[in-house]
Amino acid sequence: MPILLKAADIIAKYSPELIKESNFLASDGLTPYLEVVLVGNNPASESYVAHKEKFCHKIGAKFKLTRLKEDVGEKEFIDCIKGMNENPEVTGCFVQLPVPNQLRHLNITQLINPTKDVDGFHLKTVTDIYQGNLTGILPCTPKGIITLLRENSINPAGKDIVIIGRSYIVGKPLALILEAMNGTVTICHSKTKDLAKHTKNADIIISAAGMPNLITKQHLRSQPDQVLIDVGMNKVNGKLVGDISFEDVHDHVKAITPVPGGVGPMTVYSLMQNLLTTTKNIIKQRKV
Ligand code: NAD
Repeated sequence: MPILLKAADIIAKYSPELIKESNFLASDGLTPYLEVVLVGNNPASESYVAHKEKFCHKIGAKFKLTRLKEDVGEKEFIDCIKGMNENPEVTGCFVQLPVPNQLRHLNITQLINPTKDVDGFHLKTVTDIYQGNLTGILPCTPKGIITLLRENSINPAGKDIVIIGRSYIVGKPLALILEAMNGTVTICHSKTKDLAKHTKNADIIISAAGMPNLITKQHLRSQPDQVLIDVGMNKVNGKLVGDISFEDVHDHVKAITPVPGGVGPMTVYSLMQNLLTTTKNIIKQRKV
């Protein structure tokens, strides 16, 4: 049987530490405070935001959801971001993506104050990672995957790692992070000619394509020694599934993440870690 890389045990193990740290920061003068801007009411975004709010309450952080109408104009939207950037009580903030068409031309991730960048998408954050500095804020999904691997004693150093997907929020930063951790990383994408050729060679396969059943037994080698991380979140007949056909592959791998219950909750957990880090950094800056 494969090892099931589940988030629940890790989150249960470390939540008391997050609560303790959040209380400590509050006693040091600044309660962690997350503000999220949500434009419109996309059901998936509503659900992600609800999970983030719940986790904030769990660790004793403040949470504010600012809702803007689907047809909000550019000025009102930017003013709203400026407001949370400048609010001295808010210690972390982001805009829940995606946003409606009329706002898509804006470079939204760059509008966020980098000291409050809990999503880890600001260029300043990305530059640190590009330079191999992994000690600061890391984007939440890649950070959650690194934690999952570490907590299961899977060291990326020296491993052949295939990442499927090259997005700004998952594939690209994850590749930089794993390369900085001495993994040998290959990025595959929609124009990759022979996906199975790459995945068969990998010790670790991470799929972030957003395509159900993309990875099947045909993509694996015969020895059950590969680790599979499924980032995909796809709705099929009302059910949440990943990119990996779990039933098809699970007897042929060393370890695999479930969907739901794998990378998704680790992403929210990482967001809370980032919120505590930005809060700590703001306290430090204020003390100088
Ligand atoms: P995206 O649409 O921005 O990028 C998808 C990437 O997959 C692209 O680079 C594309 O080239 C590649 N791709 C698409 N089809 C492919 C194929 N057939 N073969 C190889 N590559 C292919 O998506 P994203 O924002 O990075 O998200 C990807 C998936 O991960 C989605 O299902 C999303 O919902 C999910 N996601 C989950 C979490 C989480 O916390 N679990 C976080 C972020 C994204």
